[in-house]
Amino acid sequence: MADVDKKCVRQRFLDFLARKSLRLTGPRRAIIEAVFNTGKHFTADELLKWARRRDKSVSRATVYRTLPLLTESGLVSELDFGKDHKIYDPNYAEHPHHNHIICQDCGKIVEFESQKIEHLEDEISRQLGFSPRAHRLQITATCEEFRKLGACSKKED
Ligand SMILES: [Zn+2]
Ligand SMILES: [Zn+2]
Repeated sequence: MADVDKKCVRQRFLDFLARKSLRLTGPRRAIIEAVFNTGKHFTADELLKWARRRDKSVSRATVYRTLPLLTESGLVSELDFGKDHKIYDPNYAEHPHHNHIICQDCGKIVEFESQKIEHLEDEISRQLGFSPRAHRLQITATCEEFRKLGACSKKED
């Protein structure tokens, strides 16, 4: 991901906050910097950890109040892999068409794009009389490490 794009997405979020007349406090700035400086999918707890590295005063409550703003802005998307926590995707704004494959054991997520899948989705939608607006494909799988070793070393608790 080019740094320029990330800066631009961050700026779009700052504009979004300004339109909602929300103040950019220090902790909120730390959260935003953390979100738009990663290309990784993250949980609320991970975001809290990253943001605290930038500003120790970031509270869990501020993270939980900022996440809905991020998703509402359309720049970050919330993924539900059926786990007990939501996973947030900071790559949505630049790559709205990407799909996800996740290891059900360690939670490793890989993104991919596929023209074939997009064409197929368009075709199916049209056949059913719909015009596609957005799509989301998630594959739950087992990663290579799991296949080779029977367990993933980075397995979640
Ligand atoms: Zn993603
Ligand atoms: Zn795995």
